[in-house]
Amino acid sequence: MSETLSPIPPDYVRVESKLEGITVYAPAPPAEQIPDARDFKCPNCGATTAYSPRAASVTCANCGSIYTLQSENVGRQAAEFEFTLDAVKHAQTATPQQLRGWGVTRRDLRCENCGATVSVAPTELATTCPFCGSNRVAARTAAPDAFRPRVLIPFQIEREACVQLARAWLARGWFYPSDLVHAARGAQFTGIYLPFWTFSARVHSAWRAQVGREKREQYFDMGEMKFKTRTRLEWNWEQGKISLPFNDELQSGTRRIDASLLKRLAPYHLHALVTYDPGFLAGWRAQSYEIGLNEAWDAARGNMREIARAACLEQIDSRHIRNFSMNAAFDDEAWRFILLPAYLATYRFAGKTHQIAINGQTGQVAGEKPVAWLKVWLAVGALTLPGILLASAAALLGALRFQTGGWFVLGLILFVVGAALAAALLHRATRAQDA
Ligand SMILES: [Zn+2]
Ligand SMILES: [Zn+2]
Repeated sequence: MSETLSPIPPDYVRVESKLEGITVYAPAPPAEQIPDARDFKCPNCGATTAYSPRAASVTCANCGSIYTLQSENVGRQAAEFEFTLDAVKHAQTATPQQLRGWGVTRRDLRCENCGATVSVAPTELATTCPFCGSNRVAARTAAPDAFRPRVLIPFQIEREACVQLARAWLARGWFYPSDLVHAARGAQFTGIYLPFWTFSARVHSAWRAQVGREKREQYFDMGEMKFKTRTRLEWNWEQGKISLPFNDELQSGTRRIDASLLKRLAPYHLHALVTYDPGFLAGWRAQSYEIGLNEAWDAARGNMREIARAACLEQIDSRHIRNFSMNAAFDDEAWRFILLPAYLATYRFAGKTHQIAINGQTGQVAGEKPVAWLKVWLAVGALTLPGILLASAAALLGALRFQTGGWFVLGLILFVVGAALAAALLHRATRAQDA
């Protein structure tokens, strides 16, 4: 009777042995591969492929092959998820593995300067952070546990178009240094899919407030012995209710780009949403969400509440309101997680680094532009000086007993108009730093 060795379990692998003649098996480390991971090697020639906005497909720059993606346009009809506590908990804990991660082998780059984590293709050797331009980035394997986006808007603007768009944007406007336009030349644009949540809901609000209405009444003035009219405020409690629908309110999932910059990049046209295919990310960067579903929903709900509050106040046809209170009940809440395309770059001008971003769907540019304050102050002077000069000349001649009253008044008027224009100019110039 011969004894047989029990087989090595399949999840054990052979490891280095310190003892001669003895073979050691240890539990295999967990596979880093995501179950349905695909890489984007060209099946024809083996080169690395990338998604091309022009071809709207994955293309191989080496042999020219074009591969269409398994994706359909779903637009605003894209599947939404019911926002019940159960659904959210389920989404967070029980989402099956094939609905997590990117669905393709990716690598994470973590920026040690600003803390951003960016997902790149495993073959990409890029070493700069698209958010802050720092080259202190460290690579690590992508954590495959985040929700996978179900829909996205593909890039429609080619990377080559970015510098031209940035030049046109830098050249626009009067407040800026005239040589600013050349700063676009050195900008390196990185295409990146940014994470967003969309929320839909219906808000029901009831409000109550004391509303004052002006009443004209007649009274008898004992002093003058006659009837007069006066207005007084009559305060009454009033109440009302509204029901407002919200559709696809965008809420950012990234902390790396501030809200005002995102607002100036908007709008994104959600009718172009297509179902997610990992191929869209081939050759592009993507960011996992940093702001989770619950935090984003809190912020979105806050915004909806503010809009509902404004709508309630609008129902009251008086400007005298006190003790206003309202409630807000939400129903039909739904959410989805989407990716939106953007190009990011920094440019240097006069020793300073400025951020610039381009909407990857529409080509809308937003960012920081240094204001040429010398230009602005010269204009302020040109606007206010004529009035000052005329008024002081008239005052001086007036003191010498010439008849100059009319000129003095004209000078004052000129000054007031010039100062008002100058104040408006200064206000616009202050805001123009974020164009
Ligand atoms: Zn090829
Ligand atoms: Zn950074």
